[in-house]
Amino acid sequence: MGQLLIKNARHLIHDNELKMQDVLINDGKIVEIADKVTTPATRTIDAHGALLTPGLVDVHVHFREPGFAYKETVATGSLAAARGGFTTVLAMPNLNPVPATQAAFQQIKANNEANGRVHIYQYAAISEGLIAEDVSDMAALAADGAIAFTNDGKGVQTAATMLTAMQAAAKVHRPLVAHVEDESLVNGGVMNLGTRSRELGLPGIDPLAESSQLARDLVIAKATGVHYHVAHISTKESVNLVRFAKSQGVHVTAEVSPHHLLLDETHITGDNAYFKMNPPLRTPADRAAVIAGLLDGTIDMVATDHAPHSHEEKQGSFIGAAFGITGIETSFQLMYTHFVKSGIATVEQLLNWMIIQPSQAFNLPGNRELTIGAPADMALFDIDHEHTVTADEFASKGVNTPFIGATIYGQTLLTVVDGQIAYEA
Ligand SMILES: [Zn+2]
Repeated sequence: MGQLLIKNARHLIHDNELKMQDVLINDGKIVEIADKVTTPATRTIDAHGALLTPGLVDVHVHFREPGFAYKETVATGSLAAARGGFTTVLAMPNLNPVPATQAAFQQIKANNEANGRVHIYQYAAISEGLIAEDVSDMAALAADGAIAFTNDGKGVQTAATMLTAMQAAAKVHRPLVAHVEDESLVNGGVMNLGTRSRELGLPGIDPLAESSQLARDLVIAKATGVHYHVAHISTKESVNLVRFAKSQGVHVTAEVSPHHLLLDETHITGDNAYFKMNPPLRTPADRAAVIAGLLDGTIDMVATDHAPHSHEEKQGSFIGAAFGITGIETSFQLMYTHFVKSGIATVEQLLNWMIIQPSQAFNLPGNRELTIGAPADMALFDIDHEHTVTADEFASKGVNTPFIGATIYGQTLLTVVDGQIAYEA
């Protein structure tokens, strides 16, 4: 007797071939995969040929709790994750309190565990308030379960602090994740500095704010041997720097967001804050470079930077609105539609970017394959029918995405975490 039987699901086998089979789950594990499973189950779901994959992994989400529960909570954020097909996420530390101390970290971790519908790993902060020069006690935080360290939202402004942070992270074998942004080049900008900012008469962030700090970090990463991970890479120069650093043996990985792959500054319809995020949408040349970087392996993975905000915080002008867009409920679907269905990439590549690479880079437990004995963390996607994204369909509290109205394939039908249904359409 099985607990859950998923019939007629197509899943990836080898050489990018999809095969239609039945999958039986019991006690949180996959117990049988066959062309026809005849073992009875408590619940049977007919997938009608939908795509079954291991659960997606997102290494960059903002769940806003504690401190900003009006934007998102662990309950709503993790339901949104499940609705996107994600079973594992890594949660950012720009919270209140900031998890730079053991007390704050333990409180946040306990709340994640109590209210999370998916597996949530928590980042600890590099330093207090995400801005202090003194580096947090990484050994203690790692012992408490910090998956990695980052001050995401803020760049680490001095080389001395970054050197100390990388040495400490290397010592405890945790990745050091960087939001690269030199504040001396931001100039009060709200979008990319360039043609579009001049057209709209809005202040621009110099793209050198990202690449110049990244160049500095890569040199320090090489000297310390740390695993250095670049969050939301967005410029051509940054991609070139990571490509060169990899050729020099620097232990560096990089993530790119769906919005930096699919949009550039020419898509900004006007002074509409739903296009305001940090890093900002760049030029078509930058967008072409991040796509090329993802396809050639310079960029290792896709991560959403899911950043929910309240309605009020995203209304009106770029000036004054909050930075960030939501993404966890549209990430796989947009990537499937624009990379796989359009023929740029294969399902295998997509699953590599959204499951295998993130899992390996962050040393996450569990084998992320649909094999007998594997943890039953999986998602089922309808890749045959198109869907138009609407503002009222999200599980997230945030609806701040420029992809409302987009036509997508791959709506999530079912997400299973540890053998239990976490989301069902
Ligand atoms: Zn960031």
